Amino acid sequence: MSYQVLARKYRPQRFEDVVSQEHITRALANAVTSGRLAHAILLSGPRGTGKTTIARILAKCVNCESGPGATPCNECRSCQDITSGHAADVFEIDGASNNKVENIREIRDNAHYMPAYSPFKIYIIDEVHMLSDSAFNALLKILEEPPAHVKFFFATTDPNKIPITILSRCQRHDCRRVPLDAIIRHMAMLCEKEGIDISPEALTMIGREAEGGIRDALSLLDLMITSADGPISADRVADVLGGLDRQSLFDMSAAVFAQNAGKIIEIIDRLYDRGQNMAKLFAEFLAHFRNLLVVKIGGTPDVLSDVSEFEINALRDQVKNISSTHINQILDILFKEDYTIRQSSRPKLAMEMAFIRAIQLPPAVSIDALIEKIDTLQKGFGQTDSDNASPPTSQDTDPVTRTPDPTPSDENPATKATTPGRPDYPAPSFEKQLDSHEINEALTPSGGGVDPGGRPVHVKEPGESLAASWEKILKNLSGENQALSACFSDSHLIETGKNHLKVQFSTNQFNISYAGRDTSRALIQKACSLYFGNDIQVALAGTVTASASGTNRNQQARLLEKETLGHPLVEAALKVFNGKIVEIKILQEA
Ligand SMILES: [Zn+2]
Repeated sequence: MSYQVLARKYRPQRFEDVVSQEHITRALANAVTSGRLAHAILLSGPRGTGKTTIARILAKCVNCESGPGATPCNECRSCQDITSGHAADVFEIDGASNNKVENIREIRDNAHYMPAYSPFKIYIIDEVHMLSDSAFNALLKILEEPPAHVKFFFATTDPNKIPITILSRCQRHDCRRVPLDAIIRHMAMLCEKEGIDISPEALTMIGREAEGGIRDALSLLDLMITSADGPISADRVADVLGGLDRQSLFDMSAAVFAQNAGKIIEIIDRLYDRGQNMAKLFAEFLAHFRNLLVVKIGGTPDVLSDVSEFEINALRDQVKNISSTHINQILDILFKEDYTIRQSSRPKLAMEMAFIRAIQLPPAVSIDALIEKIDTLQKGFGQTDSDNASPPTSQDTDPVTRTPDPTPSDENPATKATTPGRPDYPAPSFEKQLDSHEINEALTPSGGGVDPGGRPVHVKEPGESLAASWEKILKNLSGENQALSACFSDSHLIETGKNHLKVQFSTNQFNISYAGRDTSRALIQKACSLYFGNDIQVALAGTVTASASGTNRNQQARLLEKETLGHPLVEAALKVFNGKIVEIKILQEA
């Protein structure tokens, strides 16, 4: 028995069988049942998305002996003749090869005769945009005064080439590209019916190659079925298509994240040998890195370009420990090289260079991580044997989510030895790691004293005012982190309770964010606990300083610059890196 191609064998015979064009089939079904079907219907859309299939089903709907209705019986003479392509009253005309005025005149003359046995004479003109100007004029004459027994169903991939006079006389429906997942589901369903063993990766590759056209997808699937013996794998599809298997994309991103230049060259070589077009391949890599970024920043599946459900998990997995900043950096470089690769006379070499460039960049460190670093360095500044000054080197950890260096820089080994139970600092949760017992132990009997780091500790004396208390707490804080205590230059302790206190402070947005970080809050809590001798919950109420009324943008900018230059964190950064200020950029106005 000869092989019958899938597209023919499984051609939809009812609207509900059409893949993924519900918005059209529903509207047409309603039009038929309510008797309001226009005499000229235009179906537009990319190739292979179901335009002529819909036109044929619609022809059955109106001409079915048990109709007209939304679902043709597919049993009557009319239905069966349409299915077999021999209906006496349904004419399928290829507009590309019948584009002359004579062809349309012939249709016009013929249209006046009554249908042979059906309610309507139906003309399905495919690729109608190919008609010549004079042919369109002839067509227009029929559309202006159509016989009541005639319907025209037009299909086109290029509606812009159809004169507006024709368009205005048609009811238009636009077929959309079929989503990748719908194509894959459809192919998987057919393969199951046919008993064909095919991997999900192979189905995805075929689906992607079809670019939203169900007919192309089925043709490719036919090709795979007829050329394969045994199960159809992604490798097999890649060989036949001379294309790219999805695994290669993931191999490539893995090699880039691991900064493995050898592997990168090897992957490009392999794909080159398969005859892959380098510019097209690079576009695939770009799309892949974009998808990785989208997944990393929590984008929803519908903004991912052509990614099947099962692949999204693989993407998530791959970027689990990579920062979005780093992916963005890579994407940025690759994107800049895109033009070069497309224009290059040696695109393979250009692509290799692009990826090498991408892996030579040290992963970006986020602002938060940088502040963290400065904090740590600042504390250790002056200690000649500080081992905390090495820049971040790990390529595979996420600088955003990485916990700060656990090694405390404010403790030298000697003091550490005398207080073995004391936890490392800074720690994500202060309360859990520092109890009042340990604090009291650190204090001298007189109430004042020094902490294990050798800094003076200010503790509560009887009858102190809120202002005095807060002043002492800030001194404690200053001992921990000067930059942080400077955020509270305009602050008040407005409430204290047994285990809590509330602080109100006014400053700029940066300081408020800085004070609100987990590590900052832990330090503030520590300073308070040192003062009160027990664990204290601190509530911060920060107000952004209103800029002086009447100040214009320039004045405001100058004010911000001044604030920036005087900021203890900036001073610390300058000192730590031995740098100087080149330029101040205001990235976001408070
Ligand atoms: Zn029928």
